[in-house]
Amino acid sequence: MEGKIYEYLEKYNYENLFFFNDNETGLKGVVCIHDTTLGPATGGLRMWTYQNEWDAIEDSLRLGRGMTYKYAAAGVDLGGGKAVIIGDPKKQKSEALFRTFGRFINRLNGLYITGQDVGTTLRDMETIRSETPYVVTLPREFGGAGEISPYTALGVYQAIKACAKEKLGTDSLKGVQIAVQGVGNVGYHLVKYLAQERANITIADIDDKRVKEVSEEFGTNIESVERIHALDVDIYSPCALGKVINDRSIEELKCSIVAGSANNQLAEEKHGNFLDELGILYAPDYIANAGGTIFDTDRIKPGGFNEQRGINAVKRIYETMTDLIHISKTENIPTYKAADLFAERRIESVGKAKQLRKQVSIFN
Ligand code: NAD
Repeated sequence: MEGKIYEYLEKYNYENLFFFNDNETGLKGVVCIHDTTLGPATGGLRMWTYQNEWDAIEDSLRLGRGMTYKYAAAGVDLGGGKAVIIGDPKKQKSEALFRTFGRFINRLNGLYITGQDVGTTLRDMETIRSETPYVVTLPREFGGAGEISPYTALGVYQAIKACAKEKLGTDSLKGVQIAVQGVGNVGYHLVKYLAQERANITIADIDDKRVKEVSEEFGTNIESVERIHALDVDIYSPCALGKVINDRSIEELKCSIVAGSANNQLAEEKHGNFLDELGILYAPDYIANAGGTIFDTDRIKPGGFNEQRGINAVKRIYETMTDLIHISKTENIPTYKAADLFAERRIESVGKAKQLRKQVSIFN
């Protein structure tokens, strides 16, 4: 996209792209506002040592657009946006830098809401919060939702159940064979849910100590990280890295469902088509892993953060996944495409409703 910013903005219908600079603190970065039809543009703040300025701009644009789809499909009334700070998070962080970023965000007056992402921490969000209210992903004592991984796991669990209902004829996971790749923050809590339902669980993790501990706690089987995707199981749940569904792995899959938390599970879109052709039901990553985001953004609803309301919203991932399966079948498209369609339809219909409100308010 180098040198062709407007062409790119036009192609994907972006609303704004803001640059910011502060010589004192060395703060340099951009905020992209993709689509605010559903609400203020929201998305984390990434701090990264980009190869060049174009890479940073492109990253914010790409990720911001992804957030529009994630919120729209999750039924959350937020738009998509993303901020990036160009810099080394290990060397260039300072209180002054994040406070300056906070002041900059505050100037946007609620058009963009920031949050934690790669290279930033909850502590950084606390610092930003001292300059602006437009921050999500905060500890409970700051009015936020705190640690969100357990709720991401709850959402993945709901997506798995909806897929099981479709492919196995029941959403009870008792005795169902599930292979979980990665038992970190999300994988651990997912295994907990699955164990409560007495699923037959096999886990793999590159961290030998971790895999042993989780296996002992929940009585799971252990498999090597090289073989976990190829097990003869009902469900394969990638909860570690992206691009696990690729040219090599797809030929080795024996499961009937792929549903996990990892971002970008499909190495390329064509792998989503292959899964569909093989009759393997895929829970699109941004649908299955939206639980933490849904829970976290409950705080922007009227009355502030409400734990039970947040949990109820996360559980609705079951219905969203069921709706996607329906769209995929009736439109004869793979589920990853059905997810995009589902999100676009919601933006369109809510957009129409808002237009109506605007016209009415002119006459008031
Ligand atoms: P994490 O770092 O806590 O856990 C990842 C685990 O995967 C670690 O235990 C690691 O040792 C293991 N691992 C790494 N490479 C592996 C491999 N090749 N095979 C098996 N295990 C491997 O991360 P997390 O917060 O649990 O997130 C897991 C995935 O879910 C990531 O892709 C993340 O982007 C995505 N995700 C997480 C959240 C959240 O709320 N934490 C939300 C949305 C998406």
